[in-house]
Amino acid sequence: MSAANLHIGHRQLLGRIREIMAASGSAQRRLDDLVEAIALNLQAHVCSLYLRRPDTSMELWATHGLATSAVHVTTLGAGEGLVGEIVRTARPLNLVEAPSHPAFSFHPETGEDPFHGFLGVPVLRGGRVLGVLVVQNSAARQYGDDVVEALQNVAMVLAEIVSSNDLLSKHELENVALRPSRAEMLSGRRISDGLAVGQAVLFAPGRMMVALIADDPEVEEQRLQTAITELRRSVDALYQGKGNRLGGPSREVLEAYRMFANDQGWLDRLCEAAGSGLSAEAAVERVRGEHRARLLSAKDPYLRERLHDLEDLANRLLRHLGAIDDLAELPENAVLVARDIGPAGLLELDRSRLKALVLEEGSPTSHAAIVARALRLPVVGHVTGFLDRVSAGDTVLVDGENGVVSIRPDENAEEEFRTRVAERRQRRAAYARLRNKQAKTRDGVNITLSMNAGLRVDLPQLEETGAQGIGLFRTEFQFLLSDHLPRQSEQTQLYRDVLDAAGDKPVVFRTIDLGGDKVLPYVAHEREANPALGWRAMRMALDRPGLLRFQLRALIEATGGRELNIMFPLVTTLSEFLAARDLLHGEIERMKRFGKPVPQNVRVGSMVETPAIVWQLEGLLKEADFVSVGANDLMQYFFAADRENPRVAERYDILNPGALRMLGHVANVCKAAGRPVSVCGEVAGQCVEAAALIALGFTELSVPPASIGPVKRMILSLDHNDLGTHLAEWMVKSQGSIRGDLLAYAKGNGLPL
Ligand code: PEP
Ligand code: MG
Repeated sequence: MSAANLHIGHRQLLGRIREIMAASGSAQRRLDDLVEAIALNLQAHVCSLYLRRPDTSMELWATHGLATSAVHVTTLGAGEGLVGEIVRTARPLNLVEAPSHPAFSFHPETGEDPFHGFLGVPVLRGGRVLGVLVVQNSAARQYGDDVVEALQNVAMVLAEIVSSNDLLSKHELENVALRPSRAEMLSGRRISDGLAVGQAVLFAPGRMMVALIADDPEVEEQRLQTAITELRRSVDALYQGKGNRLGGPSREVLEAYRMFANDQGWLDRLCEAAGSGLSAEAAVERVRGEHRARLLSAKDPYLRERLHDLEDLANRLLRHLGAIDDLAELPENAVLVARDIGPAGLLELDRSRLKALVLEEGSPTSHAAIVARALRLPVVGHVTGFLDRVSAGDTVLVDGENGVVSIRPDENAEEEFRTRVAERRQRRAAYARLRNKQAKTRDGVNITLSMNAGLRVDLPQLEETGAQGIGLFRTEFQFLLSDHLPRQSEQTQLYRDVLDAAGDKPVVFRTIDLGGDKVLPYVAHEREANPALGWRAMRMALDRPGLLRFQLRALIEATGGRELNIMFPLVTTLSEFLAARDLLHGEIERMKRFGKPVPQNVRVGSMVETPAIVWQLEGLLKEADFVSVGANDLMQYFFAADRENPRVAERYDILNPGALRMLGHVANVCKAAGRPVSVCGEVAGQCVEAAALIALGFTELSVPPASIGPVKRMILSLDHNDLGTHLAEWMVKSQGSIRGDLLAYAKGNGLPL
């Protein structure tokens, strides 16, 4: 037969399989017909299907050519025989002389003895081997590439059909390991606090909603080619910075995308699969499944990383083919599982259905993390290999308190977890009861508890938590979440909404803090070797004052004559503060000239985020109306440890005596100068750290909204003086952190941390 005829013959096989699967009758009957059709079409004496059992052994489910009495009797232990070899490698095995292969094992009940030529392919779904499809010939035979290809196509279609739950009865399904079934517990990092139980929803896993077998392969090839051209174009556009919304792939990942999108091998595999009778979507899925299975077994983390790139690329391609829905509709109690997600993507999801997020990546200081906290969405990140272990619909317990995720928990574990969820709810109700209570220590020190914000979704929290104001409004979030530079009118509207929501409560707007990790996707920027030490925040704003000027105008206008509290980020020298303040005054004068209302009262503050400004504080306080310690950055620069780098970000404890001495110095100098000082870094919202800050003399904290309740509860039990005395002692003898001493003290003194 000519090559072209062979191709047509194999396409007919897919058509025949479609007929068989669409026919009525039991699953067994249809699978028997299927193996028979394959054997006839591929001119093999034997065709057998093995499916994986829950205990990981492989069971013979259907055969044409072996003894039918062996069906459901012959099982191969994990890794046993040639079938085991295919499961292990997740690759086809094509042998001229099967019995001479070292892994060959003989099962007399099958009557296998006389067969020599052997070809087996894995039945893959989501990178897992569900089964093995084998053809055999009595004579030694080298199966051609076209046969391998045809058998892989059948295996792909079979995988979809078997896992669609339409084929096998409930009873039969119990004996097939379609998906991982073991309970597993995986550790990651705490990104956003909270507990949730829900069902896994895989973000962009390629939900196939189309026919697998094509009517006209030429049409499918053409569709695939068009989609690939569009894919290349969109990847190029992303690479050139167009339309790369925040949270989109990094440049390194885009480079990998580009490489794969132009990789001839990948494209050839796709076209071959489409040309052989699969629909374009099924072809993408098949090639993806093969890569996935191969790379999953790779030990090399680089290779596994590339797997993710390929997965993403395949998803993009499916999107161009119109085969993936974009999670517009989430099921109830959804736990979204993704490699990573951008803040904009997160905001688009239906919050009433979304219960939690599990990420393979993600960092606690990322913008998505901040948005998740604003939405009070529990998030666990850095859960390596999670996507490989979870199946859509699995029950997932997300423990954002400890950074742990459980999949498919047993009844007891789920029950226990639900008890914790209920206890947490009670605790939150108790915090809500503290809403209107002043945070005052047992020895009578009033602490001002404000909240950090940056999004409109944060605003209702002012009321709900009883925060005394917004101590830090991160204005750059509006810029980061937008796909264009927000117009002055858009900025004004946001600031006005914030002031309206706050009413009498004070709001401190921090001017845009861009650069470093906060890069605007729509503004060209130069890559820097050390972005945290680079052109960011005040440095950028003063070098290119246009952006800051527009923002200042928007802020002045939004006040509509009300009070304006404004502060500048990452001030390193007094002169920077003065230059920024001059810009503000210049804009106020300009507004006056235009006869527009200006704020009644303007208070101008500075963030204390660099050790440099700590040692110029006396001078700064002569000029600034107030200061706020941005402990996230201050500690990053103090310990020379990048806050975005998980290897070092938590290496040094802020409860280190050196750091505490510096913070104590800030509190004392501000007190002596009679200037208000607050702490607004994330640590202020953690009870242990907050206790230490109060003991050092800070009386104003601005914290994430969810921290108001727990921190207030702690303050109400705290003896500020007593802890201050102990703190001074611990600092003298400490070798790295006073945390242990403080925790022991809290235990002994009933301080709830
Ligand atoms: C800080 O650095 O502590 C801070 C509050 O600012 P950001 O986290 O936005 O850099
Ligand atoms: Mg900062």
